[in-house]
Amino acid sequence: MSQNRRDFLKSAVLAAGAAMIINDPYTSIAENIPAHMKSGSMKLSYRPYTLELKHAFSISSNTRTTTPIVLTEIEFNGISGFGEASMPPYLGESHKTVTDFLSEVDLSKYENPFDLENILDDIDNIKPGNTAAKASVDIALHDLVGKLMGQPWFNIWGYDKNKTPYTSFTIGIDKPEIIRLKTKEAEQYKILKVKLGRETDKEMIETIRSVTDKPLTTDVNQGWKEKEKALEMLHWLKERNVIVVEQPLPKEQTDDLAWLAERSPIPIIGDEGVQRLADVKKAAGVYHGIKIKLMKCTGMREAQKMLLLARSLGLKVMIGCMTETSCAISAASHLSPMCDWADLDGALLIKNDIFDGMKVTDGKVTLPARPGIGVVKI
Ligand code: MG
Repeated sequence: MSQNRRDFLKSAVLAAGAAMIINDPYTSIAENIPAHMKSGSMKLSYRPYTLELKHAFSISSNTRTTTPIVLTEIEFNGISGFGEASMPPYLGESHKTVTDFLSEVDLSKYENPFDLENILDDIDNIKPGNTAAKASVDIALHDLVGKLMGQPWFNIWGYDKNKTPYTSFTIGIDKPEIIRLKTKEAEQYKILKVKLGRETDKEMIETIRSVTDKPLTTDVNQGWKEKEKALEMLHWLKERNVIVVEQPLPKEQTDDLAWLAERSPIPIIGDEGVQRLADVKKAAGVYHGIKIKLMKCTGMREAQKMLLLARSLGLKVMIGCMTETSCAISAASHLSPMCDWADLDGALLIKNDIFDGMKVTDGKVTLPARPGIGVVKI
């Protein structure tokens, strides 16, 4: 056998192994559940809700004070699973698109909620896009299945709840005096996140540095355009203890991003450029890592597959969120023990959370021990 042939076979075996890992998470779950718990009728209900932000929130492209969400619930044999769709305007979903999509979801035709893979595949195939709407069903179904099993998802997945990372806390773009105030308010957080991508980037960092020397993560939201300038800025940021940078250039500039990743003194994470499972393979060589968000990737099922695939490709992983209640944040937090960084501050930035779930304790993600995604309504 030639060397090439052997190498080919070796990589084929590795690929098959990776495929097995990726398709495996739920296979043995249903087999151990008593028959009476697997049979019944699932009912999906949903209602639009609007989150009010504590501070007006600015990124490089816009400013806003509210975020529309849709709350979902799947009822089965007297047990309810909770879910949520969060729709920041730039992703194109709204109260109307989400409720329209959910009106097409018929869960009554499935008898067994443990048939997660098939149910969620069918929902994904209703039509393309609508990823937040799909996530709202995925999260509620995971919550229901975890409750039926009496286990939180970190246990079902086999993740160590003590290995959660610190979460970053976002300081939005603002006037220097407000930035100083926000930085002081963020006392308990060990890592702060700064939105960049405007003319005032250096001023923003220097203002925060005048108040604290905590490590910073930064998110450019595609706001820089030239790779050489971006590299210069990355070196400047490195000197100021910036530990990671999200989406420094537009996602379409993959050659420039690869050029930058090769030279950058700071890890570069793809967020806008990495939406779903199919994007993870393409991220290798372009970014050092990926940002996973349930609302981009249709929920917990696909998020876990992205996490495992990224790991197998040697990519770093950041788990993130939109502005969300503790429902969707808690759902995402179950993956955090396997992630390098967490950016799960969405529920901390709103005034009207309606769930109790994942907590941040001295800056660290603390997973809820309750079954399912671990939330209760407050
Ligand atoms: Mg981002």
